[in-house]
This record gives sequence, structure tokens and C-alpha cells, in this order.
Amino acid sequence: MRNCIFCKIIAGEIPSVKVYEDDLVFAFLDISPINFGHTLVIPKEHHTSVATIPEPTGGRMFRVGSRLGVAMRRALDCDGFNLHLSDGTVAGQVVMHAHLHIVPRWTDDGFHWNWRQLKYASDSERAEIAEKLIRHFKLETQAGDAPDAEPADADTENHGA
Ligand SMILES: [Zn+2]
Repeated sequence: MRNCIFCKIIAGEIPSVKVYEDDLVFAFLDISPINFGHTLVIPKEHHTSVATIPEPTGGRMFRVGSRLGVAMRRALDCDGFNLHLSDGTVAGQVVMHAHLHIVPRWTDDGFHWNWRQLKYASDSERAEIAEKLIRHFKLETQAGDAPDAEPADADTENHGA
């Protein structure tokens, strides 16, 4: 996709420090890392949302991300790693080409996810939310899955349908 910084990185038009590449995915060091070694795994095909990435590519992203985490343990002597993915601006996605973060973690690295733990008001409220999810869940990709999809994908609008 034109004007996509990650597509330009894959094409070699913008320099990056590559860590891994195969037929489906490309991995490189994040330029503003949470910890040194923080890597991004991206699909070679442009997708705004992770939800439209075909299963073989999505599976490869997760597999490569997990194995990079192991490489981080071995190479950087980290104590663990996070896989993180933000889908949508409100979720913190800045570059609109889906990407999986692999962040090496050390016991005293001083970084904390701002995690909270809400409580459901009742069992029935919890069940109601699960029922809504089940009703709308579709394993296959459909038009309208990516909110910021390019115009060609936006003709069949069915968000929240
Ligand atoms: Zn792109």
C-alpha cells in the first residue's frame, strides 16, 4: 500500500534493522523500543487490522513472534517476553499496518502494563456479554472487519451487524 511506512520498510524503501523474513512475514527492531531488542513482526501483505490477515499468515506471525521470544531469552538473557498487538487507534495502534510486538522483559526493567481488573456486576451481566460475543463471532474474514479498510473494502458496511 502506498504511503504505508511498514510497506516501505518491507520494500526496502525505508531502512530498518531486519531480524527475520520469509514468504509471509517480516520482522525488524522497533525504532522506539520499550526495552532494547523489542521487535515487530508484520505481514508482508498490507492489512490495517489483524482481523483480515489470512490464517496461514496470522499463524506465522504468532509462531515467529514466539520463537523470537525464545531467541531473546537466549541472546539477551531476558527473563520473559510479552506479545502485544494493538488493533485500532483507540487501542493504541499508531501505524495502520497490523503488527505484533515482541518485548523482552527483565525482572527489574521498570516497565509495567497499566492493567486493571474490573468486576462484573452479576453473573447474568457476564453471561449476557458472552452471549452477544457468541452471536457475532465469525471465524471467516468478512467485508467490514477492518474499520479503517481501504475504499475497495468499504462497500459492504456491516459493523456491529
Ligand atoms: Zn502497509
